[in-house]
Amino acid sequence: MLYLINNHSMKITIGPKHLEREFTFTIPKTDNVGIFMSGGLDSSAMLSLILKELTETDRLKTVSLTAFTLEKPTGEPMYATRILKKFEDYFQVNILHVNNIPNTAEAIRQGRMASNVIVETCKQFNGQIYLSGNNMPPSNIKTFNGNLGFEYKPTLLYHQPFLDLLKPHMTDILYKLGTDFIIPYTHSCSRQLVGKCNSCYSCEERSWGFDELGLKDPETIDL
Ligand SMILES: [Zn+2]
Repeated sequence: MLYLINNHSMKITIGPKHLEREFTFTIPKTDNVGIFMSGGLDSSAMLSLILKELTETDRLKTVSLTAFTLEKPTGEPMYATRILKKFEDYFQVNILHVNNIPNTAEAIRQGRMASNVIVETCKQFNGQIYLSGNNMPPSNIKTFNGNLGFEYKPTLLYHQPFLDLLKPHMTDILYKLGTDFIIPYTHSCSRQLVGKCNSCYSCEERSWGFDELGLKDPETIDL
């Protein structure tokens, strides 16, 4: 459960029993924290961690928060907007939203954020910046019909604390931090603006995350 190792990091146990692991999260000393925010579960879990950690270390009122959302036809700018509003109300904090950042046509086709846009955004940001990417699970843990279609790689430009986590872990972070109220406002499908197709990789992965935890996915409230 949630407890402090010292004044600057939190440690939580996440995942179902057979995939259980400990997860430690620390935000280095900084005046500015940034996050790449889609409309999904993972960036919501990432933002929850950031807001909780800043609260625990008494920095919520002094550190400036910025969320960056790239344009996508599946509604990320709209879903991210309402997610941020919910978190702002819950944590009583302001988050600057840099929204509808132009994405490339190729990246939109692949359902991802263009890497050159991410790089440029990071270079212009003076602070600690977070991206909630994670890769497909090893095939001995889970296979899917679809696939992610690209790979998140380690970089020094931004933090990727979820890089080696699985969907059940990230989903569980929301429950462990008590921020699962956000789930009905998130949208994961990479094919549809509203609702879910139940067959794309994002829909499959989301469904697996809840199944592993023995939980039912609360239906997404439509835009
Ligand atoms: Zn889908």
